[in-house]
Amino acid sequence: TIPNSPAARDIAYFFHPVTNARRHEQVGPRIIERGKGIYVYDDQGREYIEALAGLWSVAIGFGEPRLAKAAAAQMEKLPYYHSFSHKSHMPGIELSERLVKMAPVKMSKVFYTNSGSEANDTAVKLVWYYNNAIGRPNKKKIISRIKAYHGITIGAGSLTGLPLNHRDFDLPIANILHTCCPHYYRFGRDGESEEDFATRMAQDLEDLILREGPDTVAAFIGEPLMGAGGVIVPPKTYWEKIQKVCRKYDLLIIADEVINGFGRTGKTFACETFGIKPDMMVLSKAITSSYQPLAAVLFTDQIYQAVADNTNKIGAFGHGFTASAHPVVLAVAMENLNIIEERKLIQNAAAMAPVLQDGLRKLSAHPLVGEVRGLGLIAAVELVADKATKRPFDPIGKVGNWVFERAHDHGLIVRAIGDSIAFCPPLIIDAAQIGEMISRFRKTLDDAQAWIRQ
Ligand code: PLP
Repeated sequence: TIPNSPAARDIAYFFHPVTNARRHEQVGPRIIERGKGIYVYDDQGREYIEALAGLWSVAIGFGEPRLAKAAAAQMEKLPYYHSFSHKSHMPGIELSERLVKMAPVKMSKVFYTNSGSEANDTAVKLVWYYNNAIGRPNKKKIISRIKAYHGITIGAGSLTGLPLNHRDFDLPIANILHTCCPHYYRFGRDGESEEDFATRMAQDLEDLILREGPDTVAAFIGEPLMGAGGVIVPPKTYWEKIQKVCRKYDLLIIADEVINGFGRTGKTFACETFGIKPDMMVLSKAITSSYQPLAAVLFTDQIYQAVADNTNKIGAFGHGFTASAHPVVLAVAMENLNIIEERKLIQNAAAMAPVLQDGLRKLSAHPLVGEVRGLGLIAAVELVADKATKRPFDPIGKVGNWVFERAHDHGLIVRAIGDSIAFCPPLIIDAAQIGEMISRFRKTLDDAQAWIRQ
């Protein structure tokens, strides 16, 4: 029989995503019970700074009653409706108008899904549908990047460029390709400037397009600033050069703003931060601060017109989810965006950016720290075995994981991506809290240093 403790029942019944199952059986769950502001609390009453805002997403912080009220009000009025076959509802109308008006380039329409992965699948389907509609059925290949993270469904998981998400799932599927990862610290050559590195990255993209045949390549997808692959800030001039190649060969540009969007880089969208002019934008996470699951794909009028003509020819756009544009979820998104605006959280992100970035860079002198990188309120600290040669620890990820686990003892929840420790706190964070977060992290690093020396 299964003992009756929550931990035993967790191990008995609950299969956790992105988790080492055997290790989980040994260590058991850390049960998080409630959250307030930048903090969460476990069932033992321990407090943690949530330095990753959940999964890069709780922009307004935990425990905001206004979102609960918005959800309850919408549940009472119209708990569910769909938007297939000309039905609509006010949350759908209002949020779509708001997102199109917020977008940094002229967008035309919004399509809703339940997750970022489904939104990226939708973006892939829109690319294919669009090219079919305009008589280019062979222009199908989509180029993503090594270390990109775009989700885990069969389509989005193919776009993702991380071995863990491909191995043993038979991914990627056909027509999805990966070009180089623009991580200057890791992949820049001796004596190569950041600009020259960016030129080489754009050349690699162009070489791939030419090898495949430009008539077969339809789109390029990228996170403006790569998140779950290790918080990789693009080198100077990167996006300018990448976009030039995309335009030259008539590739659509998809900006995956799932982590970046709604203030993370200090501007509403990272497309503004890096001067990207996308044909499609994918949004999620901070759109509801993850209080409800939601993602959205925005696309231009050029795409809309071709797609619309085709729906008229064949009867409908054959893609949509039961919970696409769920009214309760959208009502929560609206209220969340109201709060981001009223509390000036994007301005706060911009103001707190130097506090976080400079504070973390002070750790550069620490013997374990190889690189501190980041922008706005997102950053990573990469730990290395040898600072001079940038030699990673062997095996990669062992020290990162140790740091991730030990951080809990200092009241800190971070994310380890290999040996890079990621920070992406709620946008409400203030300077004193950033100071406390870094101080808890420094203690963890010192513990790690002592553990390695043993
Ligand atoms: N795109 C990016 C940039 C992400 O970071 C993520 C998730 O972390 C996704 C897509 C996938 O979103 P979801 O986990 O909601 O499917």
